[in-house]
Amino acid sequence: MFVKTRKETIELKILRSLNARMQLPKKDENYYSYMEKGFAGEQRFDNWLETLTNDCLILNDLLIEINNTVIQIDTLIITADTLYLFEVKNYEGDYFIESERWFTLAKTEIKNPLLQLKRSESLFQRLLQDLGFTSSVESSLVFVNRDFYLYQAPLNVPILFSHQIERFLGRLNMRSSKLKEKHSRLADHLLSLHLEESPYSRVPEYSFGELEKGIMCGECLSLVTVIDDKDLICSSCDFVEDVDSAVLSSVEEFTMLFPDEKITTNLIHEWCNVPVSKKAIRRVLQTKYKLVGHGKSAGYVRAITVDE
Ligand SMILES: [Zn+2]
Repeated sequence: MFVKTRKETIELKILRSLNARMQLPKKDENYYSYMEKGFAGEQRFDNWLETLTNDCLILNDLLIEINNTVIQIDTLIITADTLYLFEVKNYEGDYFIESERWFTLAKTEIKNPLLQLKRSESLFQRLLQDLGFTSSVESSLVFVNRDFYLYQAPLNVPILFSHQIERFLGRLNMRSSKLKEKHSRLADHLLSLHLEESPYSRVPEYSFGELEKGIMCGECLSLVTVIDDKDLICSSCDFVEDVDSAVLSSVEEFTMLFPDEKITTNLIHEWCNVPVSKKAIRRVLQTKYKLVGHGKSAGYVRAITVDE
C-alpha cells in the first residue's frame, strides 16, 4: 500500500515549464532531461510495485535530514521483518565497472551510484537506531530500463536489474507476516521528518518578459495551441482540453513560476496568449480566485484550494 505517492517535484515542474518557454542554457537543459528521465524511471518502478499484495507500506521520495546531511530515498518498503530501501536509476546503454569506478562504454566516468546508496543506508540505519527501531535494512540499486547493461558487475553487489524486478517482488509476495502498529508509527514518523522541497533546487534565472507566452499543452507540453469554441486543441499532438481548465492550469503554472506576482486579468491574458477575451479570462479567474484590493492594487488570490 502506497502511504506516500510520487509527485513531480516543484523543481521539475518549473524546469518543464521553462523548457517550453525559453531556451535553457545547455547545462540546465541536460539537468532537466536527467530529472525528467529519472522521474519516468521512478514511475515505472511504482507500476511494478502495484503488483505487491503482501502486507507492506510504501513511501516514495523521502527527503530526510540526518546528522546535518540530507538523504533522498526514492522508495522505501516497510514489511513486517525488513525495510527495503531502493535507489532507482533509469540509465540506458552500456556501462562497465573497473576497480569500483563506473564508466560508460565511451569511458566517461560517472558517479558510483553504489556509494550514494551506501551513504543513504548507513545514515538511515542510524536514524532507525535513534528511534529504537530494530528491523533489518536491505538496500538495492534498481535499474528499471531494459536497455541498460552493466559489464563486469560483481556478483555480490546489491543491484536489481530490470529483468529481476518481477522475481524479487514475487518473493516479497510470498511473505505472509503482518505489519504491526509499530510499523505504521515508523511510517508516520518518517513522513513527519520529510522535508518538502529539495534544498538543492537548481533552476536557472528567468523573468516574465523573456518567457514565451501561451498555454502549455497538458499532454506534450507544447505551446502551439488553437481554440475551437470551448476547446483548446494542441497543434502538435491533437490533445483536447476544456479552455477554462486549461486557463486555470496556466494560472497555476504562472503562480508557481512567479509566487510573488499579483494575479491580474491583464497579466493572465498576456500569459495565456490565446484568442480569448479579457472578460472570459476574468470569468474563469473568478471561479477559483477572489479579487482583493481596489483599483491599481487589485489582484486575485486563490479562494478555493484546487486539487493537484
Ligand atoms: Zn500536445
